[in-house]
Amino acid sequence: MTREEFLAFSRSTSGQEYRERVTGTLSEFYSASPERRMPVIWVEAGGCGGNTISLLNAMGPNFQQVMEGLIDLRFHNTLMWPEDDAALEELDRTVRGSPGFILMVEGAVSSRDQGRLCLVAAREDRMISGSALIRRLAPRASYIVAVGDCACFGGPTAARPNPSGSVGVGRFLRRKVINVSGCPAHPDWMVGTLAHLLLFGEPEMDEHGRPTLFYGETVHDRCTRRSFFDQRVFARKLGDPECMFELGCKGPITFADCPVRQWNCYQNWPVKGNTPCIGCTEPTFPDGMEPFFKPPFELEDRDGAPGAGRPRGGRRR
Ligand code: SF4
Repeated sequence: MTREEFLAFSRSTSGQEYRERVTGTLSEFYSASPERRMPVIWVEAGGCGGNTISLLNAMGPNFQQVMEGLIDLRFHNTLMWPEDDAALEELDRTVRGSPGFILMVEGAVSSRDQGRLCLVAAREDRMISGSALIRRLAPRASYIVAVGDCACFGGPTAARPNPSGSVGVGRFLRRKVINVSGCPAHPDWMVGTLAHLLLFGEPEMDEHGRPTLFYGETVHDRCTRRSFFDQRVFARKLGDPECMFELGCKGPITFADCPVRQWNCYQNWPVKGNTPCIGCTEPTFPDGMEPFFKPPFELEDRDGAPGAGRPRGGRRR
């Protein structure tokens, strides 16, 4: 599969088709050269672990296929916590001995009190902070991938009043990183970004560092309720089948392919489940998306927005 075909499939097909095509491509690639698996160091800093859980739900390819054919996971501080010193020795070996590795960070970086508010590992009787570990690993990494909104932009961990002084990885390191945002990130967004890195190098990214193959259009652009929005027919309560803009849906200002990708093994996504999009892939999430149940803008006030200039308060059921 060429890069152009990979991009086209990532952008335009359903999750099921994507899964079959990408899994097929990766198994072809790695059965020819299994040594191409790239070492990955995964650091979970200040977060809930949701992106690790999301990755474990991967279907296209699944987690076992990811581990056997795509990455060589050398260190994951949450999954390997019981291994203690042995895990840290493997981490040291990877940093010293590998020509390159991918550093994946989940969770925001606590910058206050020298990082002591977020401790991620212990060596003998010394605790290691997330900020210290990330600062040590970053200069040696071939790529740095932030997964989930906390790692990308601070996310819920950095929500007001943010007592831990948490920030996203790029801001903490003062450098550009690849941001696979979302709360959590979809497993396909993580696996697809890794696949692109290994097969074709760094993917094209938007101004927020998000790969455009998954974040190139708004949720609103591809929403199944879009025709209701265009006709100004709005739901009055959760559960109504019409457009949920007036119930606070942030789809028009949120970039992600959820409507075609779908979640939970390609079964559902928030709008299909009668819940407005809350904008979890955006840099301003969550503070800037509140209140969750109010429209993100006045229809007549937003230049260039779909429906701008039209009278407020379209038809209701
Ligand atoms: S506002 Fe929300 S529910 Fe309505 S069409 Fe856009 S994304 Fe879909």
